[in-house]
Formats: sequence, structure tokens, C-alpha cells
Amino acid sequence: MNRIGHVIAAKNYSAGPATPVFNPATGEQTAEVATGGPNEIDRAVAAAAAAFPAWAATTPARRARVMYEMRRLLVARADSLARAISAEHGKTHTDALGEVARGQEVVEFACGIPHLLKGSFSKNVSGGVDTHDERQPLGVVAGITPFNFPVMVPLWMMPMALACGNCFILKPSERDPSAPNLLHELWREAGLPDGVLGVVHGGKAAVDAILDHPGIAAVSFVGSTPIAEYVYARGAAAGKRVQALGGAKNHLVVMPDADLDQAADALMGAGYGSAGERCMAVSVAVPVGEATADALVARLKPRVAALKIGPATDTTAEMGPLVTAAHRDKVTSYIDAGQAEGAELVVDGRGLKLQGYDKGFWLGGTLLDRVTPAMRVYREEIFGPVLSVVRARTYDEAVGLINAHPFANGTALFTRDGDAARDFADRIQVGMVGINVPIPVPVGTHSFGGWKSSIFGSHGVYGPEGLHFYTRLKTVTSRWPTGVRGGAQFHFTER
Ligand code: NAD
Repeated sequence: MNRIGHVIAAKNYSAGPATPVFNPATGEQTAEVATGGPNEIDRAVAAAAAAFPAWAATTPARRARVMYEMRRLLVARADSLARAISAEHGKTHTDALGEVARGQEVVEFACGIPHLLKGSFSKNVSGGVDTHDERQPLGVVAGITPFNFPVMVPLWMMPMALACGNCFILKPSERDPSAPNLLHELWREAGLPDGVLGVVHGGKAAVDAILDHPGIAAVSFVGSTPIAEYVYARGAAAGKRVQALGGAKNHLVVMPDADLDQAADALMGAGYGSAGERCMAVSVAVPVGEATADALVARLKPRVAALKIGPATDTTAEMGPLVTAAHRDKVTSYIDAGQAEGAELVVDGRGLKLQGYDKGFWLGGTLLDRVTPAMRVYREEIFGPVLSVVRARTYDEAVGLINAHPFANGTALFTRDGDAARDFADRIQVGMVGINVPIPVPVGTHSFGGWKSSIFGSHGVYGPEGLHFYTRLKTVTSRWPTGVRGGAQFHFTER
């Protein structure tokens, strides 16, 4: 059995207990991953702390060269990374390639680090006194990432953390650990010195060891809301800077004037792409008015029923299996619950079987209509290929529905009306908003982050927010020459 180990100071460690890793398409165990805890985190922190002074002192221009080389390697090895992702996550090859490309954007932004780290300077703020500010790295920082983007989410964190001069420890999801190790190899090849980046695998024990470790200055987390809240509270209590991004329930509002074919296309891709296992997946469609709802459901029904589902090796597949059998069963139980609570089951994906892949973790696309805000399928994140239709009578009712939901990651409005679009962007209480764009994930030069219980902490990830999260501001006030004699001053004076 292939054993996937931790990578600390460029060496592989794989002793100790292990967790099984599966190919979701076949249902077979393909590897086991070492399960780290306090000892492995201690080692990784020691290696990172030893590497930190030299890395922090490396010129931003040299650190940028590592970013440029990493960008080149990501392009050159995109195919192998994508294969590693699909083999353990299950998403289609094209989707996995898209994931790599989105992560690459953050590396491209980090290539500009000499410019981004430029401080400001004020000459002669007082007689012969100058002030400048600079952003300094924090030290050893850690990232804890979810299963659904084993390359992109680590790349939301690593490039900015490293380019700013920090050392970084990644604790990836135990469900798809191979791609993060491959990513580590690429960083090494790009020229990152030993110890600057470490990967420690595992689950709760490794996470707790990160949160409690006095040698770790900051923690970035992406995952479900209950764990994000826990990570934020425990990490902050230990005195760390923490950003913890949580789960989502993203609504797409369809106005009566919208191009319904375009809206249906958007809902198919955003609802069922990657089997709905995306934090920016649209899981709720909100058509405004009964006529819009009827026309939209009529368009979606045949398309959901005809979704092409298959393994990543099938180039015609539109979505793959769910990540584990347990997750497939959990999503299935939500469909049961929706039906029991009175939702109309328009397309039922339960019980899907694929010839030759009998043991795979399959679930077909599912469409629930006449879902109400009181139902569990509406209140909770399902994280699977299940789209709920909540019918709103008016635009205001749709806005009120979204603003009342505790999750606030992404949302979208489909309309031809500029007034409605402007009003929506202004009033909606959600972090990322799309106007006729179903999945408004910001590009690498902007920053990603939801509101309300989709995030804990005050910074989003990557882009300018990444720069602020991974550095702290220092302001230096200096007087040259020192020969000026004015006597002791006991009070502030006008400058
Ligand atoms: P998860 O919360 O189960 O796991 C995330 C990380 O936390 C993993 O590394 C895991 O090992 C660790 N973890 C799990 N249980 C833990 C515990 N009890 N104590 C400490 N650590 C624990 O999430 P997941 O299932 O891997 O990923 C799916 C979730 O991530 C969804 O809720 C999705 O919305 C969310 N997500 C959010 C974003 C975002 O940007 N907001 C992006 C991607 C995924």
C-alpha cells in the first residue's frame, strides 16, 4: 500500500498511524496517509523557525524569482497535478485543470512582491525628522485546508505567505493528500530553501497542535463553518492571528426579465459542477414570480436528469463522484429530509449506479422545488449535487431571504435591469456578488472572503488582503543628523 508521508525540511516522514485514502470513482483504497500530531507539528515548526531568519532577509526580488519559477512549473506540470487531484477527489480532469489555473493566479500576484511590499515615506514630518513604514513577515505561519480544492486553496495561502517572507506549514485534508505533496515538490524545485515550507498530514490532533503551538504566529483555515469557528476561537485564545473561512449556502436570484436560457446554463454549471462540492457552488435558485419559476424548472429538469456523470478518466463527464462514501450518504440523507419535509423532488439522483464502477461514491444530480426557508435542506450546507428552488414572490422577498441566511459567502443576480443589479450589489449582505455571473470568485489581484458565518476573522484570503494578513506594519520615525540639540521635551509640540 502506497504510504503518503509528511514533508519536513525536505525530508519525508511517514511513521506512525495512518488514515486510508480512496479513489472515489472506484471506491477502492489507493493509499494511506500518515496521521500527524504534536510531534510532527513540533518538528515542522522547528525546521521552519530555523529557516525563517534567512528567508525573511532574502530580498523580495529573490523571493519573487521563486514565484516566477513556481508559475512556470505550475503551467508545465498542470496535467500531473490535475491527475493527482482527480484520483483522490473525483472531480473531472478539466475541472482539476481549472483549479490549478485559479491557484496559479495567486502565484502571479505574488510575483509582484517587491512592488507590493513598498512602504510609504514622509520626509521632514518634524524638524529633521522622517517617517517611513514597512510591512514585516510574521514568522512561522500555518494553513489548514479542505478536501474540495487540494491545490487551489493551499495556493490561496502559500504564495502570499512565502513571498512576504514567512515560513509556512500546510495541514491539508486527509482525504486527498497526494496533490499537496506534489505541490510541495514544485515549490522545492522552484527554489524554496529547506524548511521554509512543510507539509504535515492528519486530522484534529494535527490541527489542535497547530492552534496551540507557541511558535506559530498565524493560522489560515478554510473548511466547514463549525470547524472554522472552533479554529478561530482556539487559535485567537492562543494569541494567534487567525483567518477562518467557513461554509456556504449561495443563492442565485433569477429576475422575470432575465435571459432564462443563460440563467439555466449558469445554474447547471454552478449547481452541479464538481458535484456541488464547491464553497461557491450555487445551492439555491430563487426565481422571482411563479411564471419565472415554472419556466426555469421546466428548463432545468431535463438537463439535471441528463447530467453526464463519470470518472475523471471519461473526458465527456460533466461531474464525478462524491469524495467519500460517508459524504455521499450524508448528502443522500438531505434528499430524504427534503422529501420528508415536503419539498417537491423534481429529479432524484439517489441510487445512481455506473457500470464498471459499482463501488464508486456516486450520486446523481438532484433538483428540489418548492423548498421553504424552514426546511433543513435550505438552512444547512449540503455540499453535493442538490439544487433547491425557493420561489420568491418579489425581488424584495428574494433579497430579504438572502440577507436573513446565516451563510454569506457568494450570491448572484440574473437580470437585464441595471437598476436592480445596482440595488442588489448595494443591499445584499454577502461577501462576493455576481451580476449575471454565477460563481463570482475574485481573480488573484482581488481578495476572496464571505461575510457572517462564512468567515471568522477580519481578513479575506489572497490579493491585497493576503498581504495584510501575512505581514505586520512597522512605522519608523528617525532624525538625521543626531547632532541637533533642543533640550528635553516634556510635552507634544506643534510640528
Ligand atoms: P472540514 O471542515 O471537515 O475540514 C477542513 C479541515 O479541518 C481539514 O484539514 C480537516 O482535516 C480539518 N478538521 C476536520 N475536522 C476537524 C476537527 N474536528 N477539529 C479540527 N480540525 C478538523 O471541511 P471539508 O469537508 O474538508 O471541506 C468542505 C467544507 O469547506 C465545506 O463546508 C465548504 O463550504 C468549505 N469550504 C469553504 C471555502 C471558503 O472559501 N469559504 C472554500 C472551500 C471549502
